[in-house]
Amino acid sequence: MTSKEIIALTERYCAHNYKPKEVVISEGEGAVVRDPEGREYYDMLSAYSALNFGHRHPELVAAAKEQLDKVTLTSRAFHSELLGAFAERLAALTGMQAVLPMNTGAEAVETAIKTARRYAAFVRGVPEGKQNIVCCRGNFHGRTVTVVSMSTDPTARAGYGPFTPGFRAVEYGDARAIEEAIDQNTAAVLLEPIQGEAGVIVPPEGYLSAVREICSRKGVLMLADEVQTGFGRTGDMFACMHEGVQPDIYILGKALGGGIMPVSAVASTRDILGVFEPGSHGSTFGGNPLACAVGLKAMEIAVRDDYPALAREKGKFLQEAIRSVPNPDIKEVRGRGLLIGVEFRSEAAPYVARLIGSGVLAKETHETTVRFAPPLNMPSEQLEDAAERIRRALA
Ligand SMILES: *Cc1c(COP(=O)(O)O)cnc(C)c1O
Repeated sequence: MTSKEIIALTERYCAHNYKPKEVVISEGEGAVVRDPEGREYYDMLSAYSALNFGHRHPELVAAAKEQLDKVTLTSRAFHSELLGAFAERLAALTGMQAVLPMNTGAEAVETAIKTARRYAAFVRGVPEGKQNIVCCRGNFHGRTVTVVSMSTDPTARAGYGPFTPGFRAVEYGDARAIEEAIDQNTAAVLLEPIQGEAGVIVPPEGYLSAVREICSRKGVLMLADEVQTGFGRTGDMFACMHEGVQPDIYILGKALGGGIMPVSAVASTRDILGVFEPGSHGSTFGGNPLACAVGLKAMEIAVRDDYPALAREKGKFLQEAIRSVPNPDIKEVRGRGLLIGVEFRSEAAPYVARLIGSGVLAKETHETTVRFAPPLNMPSEQLEDAAERIRRALA
């Protein structure tokens, strides 16, 4: 089938809850993808950071294939070989003690909310049903009803009520606003250390450590949604580490699945995850053997090949390249590591069309910002070539 036919078929039979760019990706290797007609593109979005390792990283594919030949799914009704090793590795990487595995990012966010509510009710004696969670305006934490109950984006909410109560949204980047929103029934503060979907919003320096201090002083849990920023993307293994901050709960997903399958988890202390007893939470697929094999290998590669350093070096190069574009329509270039947002004074969609025409896949987030988040292991020659194409397309 041609790209045109594939797109027509998809539009005909799929719900239109997305508006994809008119590109069909039929093959991918590293940072390069190909359409059915053989046209090549650089993937500068990498599935919103789920492809930090690029497409089909050979070691990840090998780990998955090896596990495919052994056992793929046991359910948590029985033990499986790799779950313990997966949890041990993720705990070590996050500086935590225990892990609860799920599949998608939204489920990990839900898990963190459940954990925080239980911890408030069972450990701190907040009356059940009164626990509240402070979140941030402009957040993106996923798509379930409870998760969009936190959203301040009308498009993500319209028609989905009644919503889950107990959330208070305050201005992102304002630690004082968080402090003011906390009361004696507050279970947790939930935030993204950099807001990805909102358009790569980097909070002021000192924000995360101020939130950490407030949460510790008030005795509420700090939940860091690092689903998009985790595993090296922003130049640290986790974006909270930029300010030396250790949250009470890390929420992880996307890159943890190595671009092969959905793998998510929360990582926390033994004490905090101790709120769960058998039957109180779970997932049929969470922590399955295939997920553990891929997740283990993904973490091994991110550490061994120093993905945070790759993101720092390549991010510096790409940010500087984009900053040098002489176009007064560019309002701001921002980001950290290889999570970069370019905000225009006008609509971003025409620029995205020019980028795609020049062989660079990217997508606008909201109307005026384009996000660049290529694979962290993108070879330098390819990154230089992509940067030159971006410079020409944005000029
Ligand atoms: C993508 C994302 C999620 C949701 O992950 P899904 O796997 O799509 O459910 C949650 N939080 C952040 C910060 C994300 O970027």
